[in-house]
Amino acid sequence: VAERTQQAQRMESLGNLAGGVAHDFNNILAIIANYTDFAIEETADRPGVQADLIQARTAVERATNLTRQLLTFTRGDAIQPRNVGLGEALAEIEAMLERTIGEHIRLVVVPSATPLTVHADPGQLQQVLLNLAINARDAMPDGGTLVLEASVTDLDGDELNMQPPLPAGRYAKLEISDTGEGMPPEVAERIFEPFFTTKPRGKGTGLGLATVYGIVTEAGGSVNVYSEPGVGTTFRIYLPLVDAPVDAPAGQDRTAPPPRG
Ligand code: ADP
Repeated sequence: VAERTQQAQRMESLGNLAGGVAHDFNNILAIIANYTDFAIEETADRPGVQADLIQARTAVERATNLTRQLLTFTRGDAIQPRNVGLGEALAEIEAMLERTIGEHIRLVVVPSATPLTVHADPGQLQQVLLNLAINARDAMPDGGTLVLEASVTDLDGDELNMQPPLPAGRYAKLEISDTGEGMPPEVAERIFEPFFTTKPRGKGTGLGLATVYGIVTEAGGSVNVYSEPGVGTTFRIYLPLVDAPVDAPAGQDRTAPPPRG
């Protein structure tokens, strides 16, 4: 238990540090983006220079996305949790997941037999699935199968390998399994740390699973991983079930009359 607490504290201080850097960095990037946009407009008569500037602008965009991801799990920027149906969130992102993993990987979605309502930001839930799908894709360069299964599960409060441990109760479980290369225990131990990556420079940021961890724990849930080198990897995400109707999406009022015309 002491080890777990230490791990959690380490993650928190790493997260705070990363969040502070990301925030300052984001402001600097906004300035660079502004000046670059301006310079792009000014160089319409010099296509060579303009093309270079557009390259720079694209890189700034990538960096901005990266810092945005960092801020998501450290500060919870602009997050609007609501009661959301997991099945609906899953259905909404299925096409995007398919595009992300490519045609050489088969996507199998097994919906829950009963509706699953959780309290979370729907965009963040999709981010979790997307990050896990990207990793699964990278672990299956020669193709394979990605199974995404949603179900209800009762936890008795003393499950092993839960990060963090959860009190006993009913949970929504999301299981994401791939038939990829898997990972050895010394890698699996560190995957939720910000900036931990085994991918080549330029490919991995080490932020994908740190973001997943941040989003899931922020929503009162937990995540665990089971992996076997050469066989595949399974991530399990547990989120507390809420016994309430699903909320209307933010900015929409279900009681409002339909627009005329
Ligand atoms: P990144 O994808 O940028 O490396 P992540 O935090 O998403 O950062 O993942 C960290 C590391 O965890 C990866 O570099 C990889 O070694 C390992 N990993 C994550 N998901 C899987 C998976 N499905 N199969 C095998 N290894 C994985």
